[in-house]
Amino acid sequence: EQLEKSMEKVMTTQCPYCSVQCSMELTEERIVTRKRYKAKPNKQDRTSEGRMCMKGANAHQHVMNGERITSPLLKIDGEFCQIPWELAIEYIVEQFKFIQKEDGNDALGVYGGGSLTNEEAYLLGKFARVALKTKHIDYNGRFCMSAAAAAGNAAFGMDRGLTNSLSEIPDAKCIILAGTNIADCQPTIVPYFRKAKKNGAFITVIDPRETGTSKLADLHLQVKPGTDALVANAMLKVLFDEGYTNDRFISERTNGFHEVKGDIQGLDLQELADLSGVKVEDITLAAREYGKAETGFLFTARGVEQHSHGYENVRQYLNLVLATGKIGKYACGYGAITGQGNGQGGREHGQKADQLPGYRSIENEEHRKYIASVWGVNEAELPRKGVSAYELIEKVDKEEITAMFVMGSNPVVSNPNAIFVEKALKKLKFLVVVDMFVSETARMADLILPTSSYLEDEGTMTNLEGRVVLRKAERTLPGDVKHDWQIMSEIASSLGFQEAFSYTSAEDIFNELRLASRGGIADYYGITYNRLKEEGIFWPCPDKEHPGTSRIFDQTFAHPDGKALFYGLRKPKLVEEPSEQFPLLLTTGRIMEHYLSGTQTRRSPELNKRAEEPLLEIHPETAKKYRINNGELFQLRSRRGSMIIRSSYSEKIRRDTIFAPFHWGDSQSINRVTNPVLDPFCKMPEFKVCSVSITPLIDQ
Ligand code: SF4
Repeated sequence: EQLEKSMEKVMTTQCPYCSVQCSMELTEERIVTRKRYKAKPNKQDRTSEGRMCMKGANAHQHVMNGERITSPLLKIDGEFCQIPWELAIEYIVEQFKFIQKEDGNDALGVYGGGSLTNEEAYLLGKFARVALKTKHIDYNGRFCMSAAAAAGNAAFGMDRGLTNSLSEIPDAKCIILAGTNIADCQPTIVPYFRKAKKNGAFITVIDPRETGTSKLADLHLQVKPGTDALVANAMLKVLFDEGYTNDRFISERTNGFHEVKGDIQGLDLQELADLSGVKVEDITLAAREYGKAETGFLFTARGVEQHSHGYENVRQYLNLVLATGKIGKYACGYGAITGQGNGQGGREHGQKADQLPGYRSIENEEHRKYIASVWGVNEAELPRKGVSAYELIEKVDKEEITAMFVMGSNPVVSNPNAIFVEKALKKLKFLVVVDMFVSETARMADLILPTSSYLEDEGTMTNLEGRVVLRKAERTLPGDVKHDWQIMSEIASSLGFQEAFSYTSAEDIFNELRLASRGGIADYYGITYNRLKEEGIFWPCPDKEHPGTSRIFDQTFAHPDGKALFYGLRKPKLVEEPSEQFPLLLTTGRIMEHYLSGTQTRRSPELNKRAEEPLLEIHPETAKKYRINNGELFQLRSRRGSMIIRSSYSEKIRRDTIFAPFHWGDSQSINRVTNPVLDPFCKMPEFKVCSVSITPLIDQ
């Protein structure tokens, strides 16, 4: 026992698998040649309050997985061969230079991810625009937060996932959770809602499925997928007709209500209820409870946002918040519950096609000038706005982008219309993928560069509340693995940008990020590593004495006149209504056991054994109608493609809707059938609803 104890190592870290970023202690016990790991949640964690879910408890497993790549791999005659870093960097530089000469600078595409640290997300934006001189950079967060971010920016003048800290939730008297399944996706925040319920809060869940989250609800509106805006508008009508609007707040702190008021008169409650598949009485009850409550929160997530009208859906929900004045006060606010580990920070520092660090706009001349000065480049040399993640793939298909650098993402699995995406990527002249594993995308690469895991990579993450937290490096890099920031710095230096990329640590990059964000909306200037060693800090934090801002919009919104903006009412239609050929609606989402495209969680034995394959949730009556037995493989088809998937009967889903998770690739990828039509405002694809058919395999 004494020998075992002497070989014990305790690592202080945080879970990489969702936006809560629960901190924990991971103990490594070495017993002779064997190692055993045990994770223990950190009781002092201000966000998780000492909780951890099954993903956190097993997060280390992929790090130790024998499939990890530990040296650069070059594809020669279809086989990956290990090569030294010097050769890998030399080859990349040679290929990039050749392609830029042949096809132009913008022929290089850069594709990032919402799990990168703030430092790496920031550096990827600089790497693309300064070292590669391309405007073509975007990231997988486009599929996560773009609708809520665009809506928040338009309504409030800025976008931060949660307007208040989670700690205020227990004191809210009414909570609306629209299109969010926190019980599966962010399980450790559920107790905040349980406490609110215990304190008398009325909870409404809006979701086509019964979930662990809807179990918390006093009222569950089991809406038809894609009809969120109609429900929100119906609720607004009830609030208005029954006198629940906060007229003082509307007149003092908002603009645009006049137009909305005109629209409300023309709404027919019964028609909206029929279209959304819920009862008028239930919509009325949800609106009344929200309207009469002194305090309240409204949350949305991907169920509302991942639509080709996701932006408008969120705006309609924000109308409810503004109409009742439930924002900018204690226990009153809005939250877009972020999914990815750094979904919040990942979208603030410039890996998005239209943004520069600190949430600055790439088309704003003042913003360009400032960032050019921080980066030490001529403003005129900074590329302009590029295109969104899926549009990057379309450009690859058109051979306008001929080389791609992918970091922290698996676009073959995470994009909609996956069959097209795979075909398009095959057209690339040169594909570099930075990953820990040979993911479905990495498999297609010419060159794979091995990167560090969350246990090895120091850096900051910004959690769903807007709280910046520091993650330490607790494990030495295995083999020849390098950090993302080292890889970018080495390539940039070899391209001739030694000075601009002469970082020696993640902290160096963070200090530059602080300066780049200074005076911007997401102002990190006052946040330092030293301060973060003590505790997490909410942005905006403009100077080193500033405590950080846990609640935003107390006094003013971020538009120049300080007022928030209503949005005229819309009745978006489904892009694909059920038809004779495709009679059912498919919706997709997450399950508790897996994270994003599953590259890491499918390599964690404990997690994988709990969910080894995607299961399609179907109501037994629907299944019987189409002769699908429980637990049987069958064919799922849409206008874009098909797949074979196993059924799982569930009475918790609407009869006109089926659900499948998106954590698998290749023939198990649900994105083979999803619809890539994009939201015109934010370029979010229509992940959450498309029409499909189901057929027993015997009929094939
Ligand atoms: Fe916490 Fe999310 Fe990790 Fe679960 S998956 S332990 S809720 S960070």
